[in-house]
Order: sequence, then C-alpha cells, then structure tokens
Amino acid sequence: MITGSCHCQGVKYEIATEVQAFQHCHCHTCRKIHGTVYGSGAITSADGFRIVSGNDKISEYESSPGKKRCFCCDCGSHIYAYMAKKPGIVVLRIGTLDQDPKVRPTRHIWMSHKAPWYEVLDDLPRHDEMPA
Ligand SMILES: [Zn+2]
Ligand SMILES: [Zn+2]
Repeated sequence: MITGSCHCQGVKYEIATEVQAFQHCHCHTCRKIHGTVYGSGAITSADGFRIVSGNDKISEYESSPGKKRCFCCDCGSHIYAYMAKKPGIVVLRIGTLDQDPKVRPTRHIWMSHKAPWYEVLDDLPRHDEMPA
C-alpha cells in the first residue's frame, strides 16, 4: 500500500493498485497548475485509489473539457486528476506520494510547450505533444 497527502495533511489517500506511466508533462496547463517547470504524473486504477480523509477539503477544477484537477482547498496542493472519458483511471500528482512508488519517469511530453529557460538534462524520450 502506498499513501499520499497534501501539504497540510488535510487530505490523505491510499493506493492499493500499481502505479504506472510515470511521466513529466511540460504543457502550459501543467506548468500553471503546478506552478513549476513541468508536472510529474502517473496513473493508477480508480478501483485501488481511496481518499482516506479530507474528502470535504477537495476542490475540483476543470482544466480542459472533461478533465478535473483535484486540489486541497486549504493548502492548494494539486493531488490528483481524473477524466470523464477514462473513468477507470486516476492521474496521481506524484509529488504528493509519501513513499517511493518504485516506478521511474518514462518520458517527457508536450515538449512543444516547454519553458524556454529550462533544459531537459536526462535521456528519457521526448515528445512534442501527448503520443497516441
Ligand atoms: Zn492541504
Ligand atoms: Zn500537462
């Protein structure tokens, strides 16, 4: 079991299923929403994802049609996202995990939106957009 939480600990969650597809997204939306140079996400099955406490503190923001970003309304941590067209999947904001998920980043996506002042220094595959 892996656990995660927001910065203020008001929202806590646990994951009983595998964490996969860990990637760094440089799109404009992730940059704004995370307030960082890119957003790091991974997916897990919605069946294995459970909010343990703080459900009432979660605020949702629809960043693009059908995609909801879920935040702690007290501290502002972006915790996870989900998509109306992929109901079986939860997109974890991997920085909110409390343990090492034992998976490693696999790629950079939306390089076409990358901040001009940031240079990627690893050897992971890079994609201009989200590959099919
Ligand atoms: Zn919080
Ligand atoms: Zn993105």
